[in-house]
Amino acid sequence: MSIASNIQEFNKTLPPAAKLIAVSKFQSTNSIMQAYEAGQRHFGENRAQEMSAKHKLLPRDIEWHFIGHLQRNKIKYILPFVSMIHSLDSPALLEEINKAAAKTGRIIPCLLQIHIAREESKFGFAPDELRQFMREGSWRALGHVQLQGLMGMASFTENMEQVRQEFQLLKQLFDEIRSSYFNQDESFRELSMGMTGDYQIALQEGSTMVRIGTALFGSRKTGQ
Ligand SMILES: *Cc1c(COP(=O)(O)O)cnc(C)c1O
Repeated sequence: MSIASNIQEFNKTLPPAAKLIAVSKFQSTNSIMQAYEAGQRHFGENRAQEMSAKHKLLPRDIEWHFIGHLQRNKIKYILPFVSMIHSLDSPALLEEINKAAAKTGRIIPCLLQIHIAREESKFGFAPDELRQFMREGSWRALGHVQLQGLMGMASFTENMEQVRQEFQLLKQLFDEIRSSYFNQDESFRELSMGMTGDYQIALQEGSTMVRIGTALFGSRKTGQ
């Protein structure tokens, strides 16, 4: 199967409410262009310098989604052009992004990354940390980031019942935060969950953005 036909297959099967983010980390600009020519416009990367380099080489109408852990000193590489940051994993990072965005005059759409997996190593807010952060309220004063929803990664496991439960937890948390803090505000609407191995379950559980790498581009030669 070619990259183009993989994109077309996804577009046929995805529900209209869900958006396909083609995760192009470690993929060549040539592979990205194959997806682009098949109509794909949303791409996801997890390293700031790699994303910035690709942005410079590729068409201007690509929307770049940052999906990896973002170090403070790397914010500057992506801030001028990034369409959405899915991986806001601490209050400090949110403040840093806001400060940098204020200098450029941009308002950056962001998702808060929630730790739903049982694995220790994943970044993100624990559900109770998120509740506390929202209650505490300092995010309201950050005029250059717009909180548009939540993102999470399920455990890397064959146990699909566990994966489903983790996605359900994230969806419940999303609904809770939306009704508590964004009731009159349509901007809080995105639930970024689901990758190659679990996107079908994620869609059944209410995902609005699936981040797909391997199923579109084939396996990556390096990285995770
Ligand atoms: C790499 C990555 C993906 C895509 O993974 P695949 O299994 O190749 O679809 C999705 N989300 C994040 C955060 C990633 O780092």
